[in-house]
Amino acid sequence: MQSTMQDWPLTLQEVLRRGATLFADSRVVTFQGAGSRTATYAEVARRSSLLAAGLRRLGIGPGDRVGTLCWNHQEHLEAYLAVPCMGAVLHTLNLRLSARQLSFVINDGGDRVIIADSSLAPLLAAIRPTLGSLERVILVGEGGDPSGLGEVIGYEELLAGGSPLQDWPELEERQAAAMCHTTGTTGEPKGVVYSHRSLWLHSLAVIANFGLSDADRICVTVPMFHVMAWGTPYAAWARGADLLMPDRHMQPQPLLSFVLEERPTFLGGVPTIFQGLLLAAEAAGADLGFVRMGIGGGSAVPESLMRAYQRWFPLVQAWGMTETSPIGTIAEPPRGMAEEDPRYWHYRSMTGRPVPGVELRITGAGGEVLPWDGRTVGEIEVRGPWITARYHGDPAPERFHDGWLRTGDVGTVDERGYVQITDRSKDVIKSGGEWISSVELENHLMAHPDVLDAAVVGVADEHWQERPLAVVALRDGRSATAEDLREHLRGRVPGFWLPDLWAFVDQIPKTSVGKQDKKVIRRLQADGSLPVRRLVRVERA
Ligand code: AMP
Repeated sequence: MQSTMQDWPLTLQEVLRRGATLFADSRVVTFQGAGSRTATYAEVARRSSLLAAGLRRLGIGPGDRVGTLCWNHQEHLEAYLAVPCMGAVLHTLNLRLSARQLSFVINDGGDRVIIADSSLAPLLAAIRPTLGSLERVILVGEGGDPSGLGEVIGYEELLAGGSPLQDWPELEERQAAAMCHTTGTTGEPKGVVYSHRSLWLHSLAVIANFGLSDADRICVTVPMFHVMAWGTPYAAWARGADLLMPDRHMQPQPLLSFVLEERPTFLGGVPTIFQGLLLAAEAAGADLGFVRMGIGGGSAVPESLMRAYQRWFPLVQAWGMTETSPIGTIAEPPRGMAEEDPRYWHYRSMTGRPVPGVELRITGAGGEVLPWDGRTVGEIEVRGPWITARYHGDPAPERFHDGWLRTGDVGTVDERGYVQITDRSKDVIKSGGEWISSVELENHLMAHPDVLDAAVVGVADEHWQERPLAVVALRDGRSATAEDLREHLRGRVPGFWLPDLWAFVDQIPKTSVGKQDKKVIRRLQADGSLPVRRLVRVERA
C-alpha cells in the first residue's frame, strides 16, 4: 500500500527561508578580538542572496564547487546558506592542512571559486600555480595582499554589484550541497559529499538531540571547515537560535571574554577548547552558569574535564566523523540515573548510544557481527541517511561492508547499546581534535640523511589529548639531534604536527612481516623503557 503523504523535498532552501522569515530578528554575532559586530538573520539572509547573485554573475551554476578558506564568521555563514541554495556545492577547506594537502584537496574538489579570508591569502598564493580548476578568489575582509592570487574580487564589492537573487533554482534533495575532505591521515584526504537531504535530516537530529530553540545562543567553537561545524549553523538557522562566531579568536583568553560578553547557552567543541576555556575561566574566577549544555567530541572527552564543568553545566560527550556528518552517538546516562548513582560517570564517560537515524554494530576480523556484551572488541560500523556510502571520486570498497561504513574505530558495545571506543585501527594521532599523520611525519624524518628509520606514535597529553612521540634510529656514525630533526620537519608539515617528544633507539621494533610495531613502541613508552626527551611544546596559532 502506498502512503498518502506528499513527496516534499528536504532542501536547505527551506532552512534559509525559515531563518529569513520566522526568525528575522535572531542574531549573528562575530567577535573581532575587541568588540563584536552583529547582524540580524534578515540581514544575513539578504546578504546571502546577494552573494548567490554575485556568484551567478561570476558564472557559478548548479553543481559547481565554491571553496571557502575562512574562519568562523558571518560571511562564512552567508556562504553556507548561499552556495547550496543556488544549487552549487560548498567546499569547506581546512586551513591547517599543509600546502601540498591543501592543493590536493582544492584540485580534488575542482573548486572554480574560493572565498578566502584576507588574512589567509598567503596560504592560497603559495599554491596558486598548482590549482588547475580555480578561476577566481573572493577576498573577505580588509588588508589582504592579493598578489599571486590571479583574478581577485572583494567580497563586499561582489555583494554591492547586484541585487538579491530572486529566481532560486528548484533543487532535488539528493543533489550535492556541500563537501568536506577528511584530514588524510592514511593516504590522501578523501572527499565526503553531503546532500541537501542528509544535511536537512542531520540538522533535525542536532535540534532534537540537543533540544535547540530560539531561546538558545550557540557559540560555534568547532571550525566551520571541519564537518560543517557539526551541523550547528544549519540547526541554529532552522530553529532561530542566535549564532555566536568567534572568528579566529579561539584561544582560551579571547574565547572566554567573548563567551562572558555574549553568554551562550550552548557550546560545542573538541576537548582542547573546553580544557583551555576551563583554565581561563578558573583563573578569572568566571561563572559559566549561563551555559545550558556543552557537547564535546572529536576525541575522547576525559571524565575529569566533564566533572570539572559539572558545576556550571553538563559537558556531554558525542562521537562522530567527517563521514557521519558527524553526529553518531551521544553519551547520556540511562534514564532515571541520578548523579549520585555510582554508575552515572561510567555512562557519562563512554562514547555513547547511537542517535535515532544511526544504526551501529561491531564486527570481527572476518566481518562477522559481534555481540553487544560490553566486552567483545570489534570495528565499529554505522549506517544511516547522513552517513557516507562512498568517497568523492574514490569508491574505496575496503572502507565499506555490505552498505555499512567501516569507521576504523575499534571498541565495545554493551547490552544497552553504549559504545566505548578502545582504540583506532588506523595508526594516527589526534591532537587538539586535529589529526596528525604519523606516516607523513615518518616519511619526512626518514628523508633526513642522518636517519635510518623512524616511527611516530601518539602519547596521551593532558592538554592536547595526544601529542606525537618520534622514535628515531640514526645511521651509524651520524649525530643529528632532536632539535635538528624538528628543524628539518618545520615547513614540511603543519606547525602543530612537530613532535615535542623524542626518543633515540638502536632499532625500531618490527612485526613479523617487517612493519613498525607500534603496539610494542607504545608499550615501551608506557613502561618507561624508552629514553624519551621533551623539547619545547608547540602551541597552535
Ligand atoms: P574526523 O573525521 O576528523 O572528525 O575524525 C573522526 C574520528 O575522531 C573518529 O573516527 C574517532 O576516531 C575520533 N572521535 C570522534 N569523537 C570521538 C570521541 N567522542 N571519542 C573518541 N574518539 C572520537
